[in-house]
Amino acid sequence: MIVRKTEAELDTMARAGRIVADTLDLLEREARPGVTTGDLDRTAEEFITSRGGSPTFKGYRGFPGSICTSPNAMVVHGIPGPYRLSEGDLLSIDVGVTLDGYVADSAITVTIGEPTKQAADLIEACNLGLQAAIEQCREGRRLGDVSHAVQEVVEARGFGVVRSLVGHGVGRSMHEDPQIPNYGPPGRGPKLAAGMVFAIEPMITAGDYDVEGGSDGWAVFTRDGSLAAHCEHTVAVTANGPRVLTYRGPKGPGEAR
Ligand code: MG
Ligand code: MG
Repeated sequence: MIVRKTEAELDTMARAGRIVADTLDLLEREARPGVTTGDLDRTAEEFITSRGGSPTFKGYRGFPGSICTSPNAMVVHGIPGPYRLSEGDLLSIDVGVTLDGYVADSAITVTIGEPTKQAADLIEACNLGLQAAIEQCREGRRLGDVSHAVQEVVEARGFGVVRSLVGHGVGRSMHEDPQIPNYGPPGRGPKLAAGMVFAIEPMITAGDYDVEGGSDGWAVFTRDGSLAAHCEHTVAVTANGPRVLTYRGPKGPGEAR
């Protein structure tokens, strides 16, 4: 069952989303050569708690970090730790914040220093796929339209869409119904209605879309070792169209938000 939220609930989620967005802005600035993913985790936890939120991922099914940090061929769910960022790395940073009983969830992929053309193109495709999916979050559309939008944009740019990992409904819990694949035919699935909130999260690859789990039981990698990108927003369907609850502010020239 897809839980629909009231306007007041959406406003609370948007306040959680503001903390998520500000945390991602901070981490994007902090992610430099020589910094470890563990450093980013501590920075995030301190910032989130200073704003009155709590890091949703910490303790979730025993997850030890406050955020997920997934470099290069790691797609998602990386545990922050001793990994030291270096020039040319690609890094997915995923942040969830719980505030007043509601969750917001968002991720970005950034490059450390100057990106290669492949890395820049991959990140751009991920963001464009997410934007296309957000555009479908309107009353009367179907969930399949959201999924299809990602696949269409990403595959047209020659990249792979991970099949075995999906987005999700979000609200009082981080993971609510429905599951939101990043591929599939349009015009299928539940009809979208005001108050539904989705964490839409394209996970895409420069090579084949097959993935495999790592030895820590959390991290997921591309099977062929190719680069992966991941971006995510928490988006509400409203009578006035999509409302991005984790909005990070207006785009600068050539900047993906
Ligand atoms: Mg997330
Ligand atoms: Mg998520």
